[in-house]
Amino acid sequence: AVPVALVAGLSRAAHFGVLIKGAKPLEAMARIRTLILDKTGTLTDGRPQIVSIESRGDHADDDILRFAAALDQASKHPVAQALVAAARLKRLDLPVPTRITEIPGEGVIGTVDGQEIMVGGDEFVSRHASEPPGTAAPLSAGSVHVAVAVDGRLAGRLVMSDPLRTEAPDMLLRLRRRGIGRILLATGDRAEVAESVSSGLSLDGVRAGLTPDQKVLLVLTERTDSPVMMVGDGVNDAPALAAADVGVAMGARGAAASAEAADVVLLVDRIDRLGPGIEIAQQARHIAI
Ligand code: ADP
Ligand code: MG
Repeated sequence: AVPVALVAGLSRAAHFGVLIKGAKPLEAMARIRTLILDKTGTLTDGRPQIVSIESRGDHADDDILRFAAALDQASKHPVAQALVAAARLKRLDLPVPTRITEIPGEGVIGTVDGQEIMVGGDEFVSRHASEPPGTAAPLSAGSVHVAVAVDGRLAGRLVMSDPLRTEAPDMLLRLRRRGIGRILLATGDRAEVAESVSSGLSLDGVRAGLTPDQKVLLVLTERTDSPVMMVGDGVNDAPALAAADVGVAMGARGAAASAEAADVVLLVDRIDRLGPGIEIAQQARHIAI
């Protein structure tokens, strides 16, 4: 039988919007010593705003946004959803993309208006597209960059800002007082962006440019030292959430795949609910023993 203290803990956590999927994850939560946090949509707000658009060749700035948004209608990535929202606000018509392939955390390839379009991070697009000659404006290092290629040639880039969740810095300090001795940032984004996001945070390390598999590897490596909680929002985080002692999904706006893979789902769009969640788990365990 499940001790009453654990049942009470689950229901108290639910009041804070922390859905814990049973007594086992609640107990595991009390033992966590290492926390690994995804960046986009987890530590950051995840609703990036377009700062600037740089177009190449004979493309207009609006073409870049239109192609990116048309294709990104097929993606649930927070950057993709932000691009679609921005294009709709500008009343750009967005044709339905066809022949879509999404590589989670990297980008999307597909056909828009009979042209092969690619949208995603700089590295992903550069790997598949050629860079036409022309002077490119230097891009701000700490911002999220999205590149767009048309028929295999780089057509432009969008620079976006995705601010840190305001509640994040205090929350990390609170978790440290609760015995979380090691906190890492793990992101598929570039190192420059990861560094700039982490500057005001109390972190023990930053791992950037990670594929979904590399996030899993990081979780498994850390688990050999102490119990690991992994927090993420994306399709690309789902395998790492499943690999952790406790996987936590940002449930309010995150991908369904991450909520399914997780042991704990934050039903409200606030990362700081981890604090009460862990405190309740620690108290419940104390009482149950
Ligand atoms: P994190 O791991 O921090 O959540 P991701 O790996 O999900 O970050 O995303 C990293 C970067 O990849 C984004 O900043 C963006 O440049 C790019 N990216 C990934 N998927 C898409 C997409 N569907 N559309 C546009 N850009 C994307
Ligand atoms: Mg993410």
